[in-house]
Amino acid sequence: MTAILEINHLKKSFGDNEVLKDIHLTVNTGEVISIIGSSGSGKSTMLRSINLLEKPSGGEIIYKGENVLEKGFDIPQYRTHLGMVFQSFNLFNNMNVIENVMAGQVTVLKKSQEEARKIALENLEKVGMARFANAKPAQLSGGQKQRVAIARAISMNPDVILFDEPTSALDPEMVGEVLQTMQGLAETGLTMVIVTHEMEFARDVSDRVIFMDKGVIAEEGSPEEIFGSPKEERTKAFLSRFL
Ligand code: ADP
Ligand code: MG
Repeated sequence: MTAILEINHLKKSFGDNEVLKDIHLTVNTGEVISIIGSSGSGKSTMLRSINLLEKPSGGEIIYKGENVLEKGFDIPQYRTHLGMVFQSFNLFNNMNVIENVMAGQVTVLKKSQEEARKIALENLEKVGMARFANAKPAQLSGGQKQRVAIARAISMNPDVILFDEPTSALDPEMVGEVLQTMQGLAETGLTMVIVTHEMEFARDVSDRVIFMDKGVIAEEGSPEEIFGSPKEERTKAFLSRFL
């Protein structure tokens, strides 16, 4: 197994509030990792620290052998290798679907319009949204918007995609189509780190499950271990809420 990311002693505070306390996490190529835990436990802050949307207060993030927190590290370049899918889609509402999926490819990766369009269409096809290529985001359902956001993320050919509760803002009837899309991607060998409250999905799709509580990784293991025989009392208490 090759580590894409190795996170050591990661810390993040907001003022006096220590939100991440000594986090250790390795993400290996092709792995699907689910992160579960109560609201406020630091899950989003962890993802946002990994892609440096938040500046960590301490620790290291080793990407392909280099600490991204070292002075002089090329952060914009690093970010192009990490995809991010947010709860709130973050599509450009003034652009149509295919323009949304092409934008980063053209501006950041310097692809030609022609090549970006080809890749965008392939990926819209993968998420079942090719026939909406010319639609505006406002014409789409939440589930459709999120599938476009996923197509946009994979079009950047990232080493890993970080998903922060990708289905939490959706009406219940749209959750399934997005989870199915993500499951399809997982099966293609894409490396994925997914914050989710969808326990059945986490159990089915993940190679590894991380349970966060109050800024620490309280327990981690295979889906069988975490869902089948959790060791920590706080993991049990958290999971009992989903029964
Ligand atoms: P989760 O995603 O697990 O619900 P978060 O990472 O969003 O948790 O939040 C963890 C804690 O960090 C919360 O107490 C939250 O109030 C705090 N926090 C998150 N972002 C900020 C911020 N930008 N400024 C101050 N506090 C923040
Ligand atoms: Mg969150």
